Amino acid sequence: MTTERVPLTAKERMALDRVAMPEQKAALRAVNFREVNLGLTEQLAMLEAERCLQCPKPYCIDGCPVRVNIPRFIKLLRDGDLPGAAAQLLDDNALPCVTGRVCPQESQCELVCLRGKKGRSVAIGHLERFVADWAQDHPDGLAPAKPAASGRSVAIVGSGPAGLTAAGELVKRGHQVTIFEAFHAAGGVLVYGIPEFRLPKDIVQAEVDRLVAAGVRIEPNAIIGKTYTLPELQEQFDAVFVAVGAGLPVFMDVPGENLKGVYSANEYLTRVNLMGAWDPDADTPVLHGQRVVVVGGGNVAMDAVRTARRLGAAQATIVYRRGREELPARAEEVHHAEQEGVRFAFQVAPVEVVGDEDRWVVGLRCVRMELGEPDDSGRRRPIPVAGSEFVIDCDMVVVAIGTRSNPLLTATAPGLEINQRGYIVTDDRGMTSLDGVFAGGDIVRGAATVILAMGDGKRAASAIDAYLRGEQLPETPAAVPAEVHATA
Ligand code: FAD
Ligand code: SF4
Repeated sequence: MTTERVPLTAKERMALDRVAMPEQKAALRAVNFREVNLGLTEQLAMLEAERCLQCPKPYCIDGCPVRVNIPRFIKLLRDGDLPGAAAQLLDDNALPCVTGRVCPQESQCELVCLRGKKGRSVAIGHLERFVADWAQDHPDGLAPAKPAASGRSVAIVGSGPAGLTAAGELVKRGHQVTIFEAFHAAGGVLVYGIPEFRLPKDIVQAEVDRLVAAGVRIEPNAIIGKTYTLPELQEQFDAVFVAVGAGLPVFMDVPGENLKGVYSANEYLTRVNLMGAWDPDADTPVLHGQRVVVVGGGNVAMDAVRTARRLGAAQATIVYRRGREELPARAEEVHHAEQEGVRFAFQVAPVEVVGDEDRWVVGLRCVRMELGEPDDSGRRRPIPVAGSEFVIDCDMVVVAIGTRSNPLLTATAPGLEINQRGYIVTDDRGMTSLDGVFAGGDIVRGAATVILAMGDGKRAASAIDAYLRGEQLPETPAAVPAEVHATA
């Protein structure tokens, strides 16, 4: 149903200020795991939607790796046609409740939004979240029509955003899809990495349930490379999509790193998020450090340090070897961390974890850094300052300096080409060196973002569909390079 109203003039739209996202107060949220951002009300969403200029050449679409038709869903929203806006969004984006919460919009669609040339860009992510949440609360009539069965089957390895997106696209085209997932729960980093206070797990589960209702089969506790091998999947299925992510932690390689009280961010967050260790009655324990140091400056580091605060750390400190301007984490996460009382030690790098006689952590020895010329990443290279060492007293250290590929699957897949860093090599449509085997997401790009992984899943699904039908692989836009979006 649409609402009759007098459209605003462009001048009136330009005069509207960007609507602020309501959020839990910092003092309150720093001690609970409930979501920080509370979401726009319908009234606020309508108001924000009025700010969109409906540009004839909408750069925002080009800024989105899955090319969501942003002006269209915003127009439908402000016309009061919420079912239409939801249907449009779901058609373009398999996981809008997720991307509306965790996408780095400020460096993608909102960066190029024309409205941002004068004033602030349209809050595209906040509007996406509003429409997606509405769709999750009003599922009737939004399920896509059941397609005719193609008689072809696809195995997907890994249930992160790349695997889930590919599954959704392939099942829409009538293929039989089975996802093999190493963990007991589906969602990849969305469930084991990103904490509840940024992305509630029931929201991810609802997205997974939607796929299962559409016909996707999920086999949990199935590790490809151990439970089954890739060649076995190739025998049983007509095509395979490998989307195993890059979840193997990188360590600092400094003395004392194996002391009690040192975690990789991956282990720490998995214990808390996936295994429920925030609850004292959970089977999986986790240390509740009082003075916690997290090493790193990406989203993973921010998630770990904010988790430590919520688990009772009186002092929670980020140690980062470059300066504030170089922090790779999303600006919103840094801002929220600061509001919650997290401290930042910039231009500081760890050189040793210090322990007591019982091998428990008591400090992190660090050295100060100065910033030299830009390196290959374009960021200024940190150089240690001689004689500047000092110790930060702490009882827990979390290492969040990046992840790399896990060789479990690739080591048991003869003929699968990987590069020198262990990532799977594909062409720009996602095809690997093995016939009928495609790959995408972090296992191809290295640690990147949810939306880039989803873009890969979508692109690979089109290519797999063409492959299964014996057609020419489709022309697709070139993949967006990962480096720009790296999160660690
Ligand atoms: P993953 O999400 O890693 O999923 C891979 C899945 O494959 C996992 O479920 C894994 O268990 C499974 N698997 C692995 N090996 C096997 C095997 N051999 N057999 C079967 N299954 C296997 N990006 C953003 O855009 N915004 C953010 O705010 C953000 N925050 C982040 C916070 C954290 C803590 C982390 C770790 C990452 C964050 N990222 C963020 C990055 C983003 O989550 C990843 O880029 C994205 O999840 C990659 O998706 P993927 O599908 O390739 O892999
Ligand atoms: Fe609206 Fe910004 Fe997209 Fe223009 S670029 S259509 S103002 S969201």
